[in-house]
Amino acid sequence: MSCWLVLAALPLSAAAAAGSPSELLDRADQQKFSDHDAFLLDLKQLERQRSALSPAQQQRLDYLLAWQAAFAGKYDESSRALRELIGRSKDPELVVRAKSQLIHNLFLGRHYEAAYTLAYELMAEMPQITNPAIRLAVTGQVIQMLSSQGQSDLALNYAHQLQQLFPSGKERCLADALTLKTELQRKTATASLGFQAAIDRCMAAKQAVFANSLRLDWADSLTDVGDPEQAIRMLKRAAPDILKSGYQFHMATLQAALARAYLAKGAITAARSSALRAVSLLGPDDQSQVNYAAEMAYEVLYRVAKKQGDSAAALGYHEHYMTQVQAASQEAKAQALAFQMVRQNVLEKKQKLEQLGRENQILQLRQSLDQKAAENNRLYILLLLVTLGFLALWAFRAKRLQLRFREQARRDSLTDTLVRRHFLELTGRRLAQLERNGDQACLLILDIDHFKAINDVHGHMQGDVVLKQVAKVSAEALRNVDLFGRLGGEEFGILLPGCTLEQGIELGERICRAIAANVVGLESGASIRVTASVGLTTTAQVGWALSALLAQADKALYCAKHDGRNRLRFCA
Ligand code: GH3
Ligand code: MG
Ligand code: MG
Repeated sequence: MSCWLVLAALPLSAAAAAGSPSELLDRADQQKFSDHDAFLLDLKQLERQRSALSPAQQQRLDYLLAWQAAFAGKYDESSRALRELIGRSKDPELVVRAKSQLIHNLFLGRHYEAAYTLAYELMAEMPQITNPAIRLAVTGQVIQMLSSQGQSDLALNYAHQLQQLFPSGKERCLADALTLKTELQRKTATASLGFQAAIDRCMAAKQAVFANSLRLDWADSLTDVGDPEQAIRMLKRAAPDILKSGYQFHMATLQAALARAYLAKGAITAARSSALRAVSLLGPDDQSQVNYAAEMAYEVLYRVAKKQGDSAAALGYHEHYMTQVQAASQEAKAQALAFQMVRQNVLEKKQKLEQLGRENQILQLRQSLDQKAAENNRLYILLLLVTLGFLALWAFRAKRLQLRFREQARRDSLTDTLVRRHFLELTGRRLAQLERNGDQACLLILDIDHFKAINDVHGHMQGDVVLKQVAKVSAEALRNVDLFGRLGGEEFGILLPGCTLEQGIELGERICRAIAANVVGLESGASIRVTASVGLTTTAQVGWALSALLAQADKALYCAKHDGRNRLRFCA
């Protein structure tokens, strides 16, 4: 046998001024179980002072009144008051306590589905509850529900957690009671499980109702295992405490348990009178819990009548007994069904929430993917731009290199003048242009005098230095539009576009003077002077054909050489 514990009854410890309504409320709360009569007196006194109480204090009083109604077996009345309180109170802890008591009432009033639903609700609210006593009460409710629905492993797990959480005091008493009752439910409990230690702890913590409940369970299990003598001794020892508690259910159960033990021992008369006392204690407002005591009592009465050969009485009691057995079985079925339905509802709700969560996750994932894609696109574009930048730079450099190579191919590396081929090409194009426009030009050929001798005396390398210097001095005398090229060896060609004969003569002679005036410093430390001869012709003289101009200039050069060098000549 195992009966439910009125867990919501756990008092809240609070400090309050002596004699104040608050202190009275605390005291009443504390001694609900330990001194039930004093509790009732306190309740009466509080009722008288009701108008002097604050709204919060009135609510606490209403809770205690509702608790008392349930304690007296008036579950419907208690539940109505609790629901009203839950709807009205702003105190979360009081609401949780009221809900916890309501679960108890609903269960005992056979409103299993509502009870289980509320229990799940309450478990969900648990994380917000910091008060350990309330946590204990609610967890205790859940443990009992799980245990009654065959979820004893889980229930026992919770119960052991509670034992560890509360090493002493009334909380530990309750945790012990829950553990032992769950063990009994699993039919694994024996006396060795520590009933006595738990009972002692509960008595020390002034939790007589829990101690009594454990004694009743223990005694009944002793009868079950064939030790009715021990059971009877224990029940008799517990009787004064049970009577003092005023808890009607325990009083009826005590008598029923005694009746069972007497019957098991063979003391038929004692069994009968105890069973009759149990039946007489069952009031009209008693519900499922008390039915179990009734079931035990009627079974004893039926067996005793049968033993005594009183068939008529046996039949009558058997009918009562069967009514109780059937009711109990129906209750069990209804409980199981409600439990499954609520569990199903809770599971469905959970699944729906999970589904919503998953959809939300997918949405978030998609959003983050889109964001990633956008980021990637931006990255690709950036990468593309950088690559294009590099390509452009590379192309620019390549082009510049190519231009430099081409320029190098077009320029003489020693004298930095146009190479022969390029000079002739450019000059030819320019002349054609000048001819088209009817513009004139001069063509000069400049040749260094006795250059072979310089090479011979100072060496080829020093000859190069001289070549370089002559080219430099000559270039300095020229304009940007003039073309200056090395025709070969120490011979240079110069085209002066838009130039008259006089201007040509003037420029050519200026170049000759500049070369002659220039002192060339050699690596040996020595310095030398060189001269050059220049042959001049004009388009006005021979036309714009390059070959004719070159031939005429060459002729004039020959004249200059012939006339003694270091001079300009124009051959008419
Ligand atoms: P002239 O006054 O009649 O012009 O006498 P020249 O010695 O200058 O005439 P020639 O044409 O006989 O000599 C030209 C010399 O120039 C021959 C050649 O060795 C030399 N020469 C040609 N190209 C280079 C060059 O790039 N560097 C050096 N150092 N000498 C060169
Ligand atoms: Mg020459
Ligand atoms: Mg020469």
